[in-house]
This record gives sequence, structure tokens and C-alpha cells, in this order.
Amino acid sequence: MWGLKKTFVVWHTIIIINYQSLGLNKQINMIKIRLDVDYAYPSRWKSFLYTALKRKTKRNYLKNSKIIAKMINKSTVEVKAYWFFTPFTLPDAEMLELLNSNKHEIALHVAVDAYKELKDLEKTSNTQIKYYTVHGTESLLGKIIWRRKLSQAKAPIPKDFHLKSFYDFPTLSLDRICYDTSTKEALKIAYESIEKDEVLLIHPDWLFQRGKMNHRGAYYEILKEILNVN
Ligand SMILES: [Zn+2]
Repeated sequence: MWGLKKTFVVWHTIIIINYQSLGLNKQINMIKIRLDVDYAYPSRWKSFLYTALKRKTKRNYLKNSKIIAKMINKSTVEVKAYWFFTPFTLPDAEMLELLNSNKHEIALHVAVDAYKELKDLEKTSNTQIKYYTVHGTESLLGKIIWRRKLSQAKAPIPKDFHLKSFYDFPTLSLDRICYDTSTKEALKIAYESIEKDEVLLIHPDWLFQRGKMNHRGAYYEILKEILNVN
């Protein structure tokens, strides 16, 4: 399923997690997390503004992403995180340092121009990118911020684009689940999803906050539990 023969064995390594809080006691697969890094700052409005202006500021840059990367690095659970960055959330030196292990893979979240963004991300990260996802902008505000044509919800992907689409892998949108279910219920759904070898999708923007227009909810407590970190 994951293409590379070498990693095939790793994906199917079985680990044991303590499910006592859920009254379960099962074996599960390695946890695979997909992170679409849409925005750089914990403040939604600051993120909108800086994205629209194509500007960056060091203060709080990728703050939530860095918190998540540190949690993953601390975790003793077997986990692999796939980080999809846009041109507006390119990893800085601190972020690259946090991702510098085989627990992490840097990937492309296409915003507007797939080839140009791929080239910039490969240069910034000094790695060969294998996977991509595409940023969706359905709202008018989103289209304006991302300088998208009004008729276009997503950037077009060139026919000969050689990266592997991450949409090919069954995925649970964990932050969406966290919008309208209790922590306990969301945790149960997440574990069931891991058991089915699905990818857990999160957006760093919603680590601690719940969307107002966007139906995504805070998932920090769930991530802590899944990764078994304090
Ligand atoms: Zn996105």
C-alpha cells in the first residue's frame, strides 16, 4: 500500500498500546499522522493577514506545528508524521531541526502552483519530496486570501505531476471528529481508525481551538493520549 518495499515491514510492525481507559486491550498498527499545515500562526486573523500579504514574521511562526513535532519526538509509541507545507508555511530552521528524524516526512500542500511550490519546498528542506495534498478553499474569504480564481476551490494538479497523492490512503479527519463529539468518543473513533491502518488527518491551526465557521475542533488532549505523552 505504501509503495516502498523497505518501509512495508515497518508499517505493519505491531505495537501494543494501553487501552484501559477505553476498557479495551488490543494491538494496533503504527500511528500515521497527516498534517496539512495551512496557516503559520495560532491566531486565525494574523494567519489570514500574513497569508494574504505574503509576509512572514518570526513571532509564533509555526508555533502549533512545533508543539506537535515535540510531542511526536517525545512519544514512545511507534508513529510517523507526514507534514504537508504550503509556500506560506515553509519550515524554518527550528522546525526543520524538529523534523530531523525518520519519525517525520516533509511533503507538499499545494496552494496555487504545484511545480513552483515543490521546487521551493525541496530547496528549503533539502529533501526530495514524495507526497502531496492540495489546499481547499471553498469560502470567498479563503479564495481572496489564497489569490485563487473564484471558480476554483483547489489548485489544478498537472497531469504529469510525479508526486504520490496522499488521498490514495484511507484517512480519518480527526479534527473534524473533535468538533462535535466528546473527547472519549473521539478517542475511541481514533483508535478504531488506527486499527484499520488509516491515516489520522489534523491541521495544526486547531490544536487548541474550535472553528467558528470551520467545523474543526481542538484535539490536543486526544493527541496527548494517542502519543502517550504528558
Ligand atoms: Zn489545506
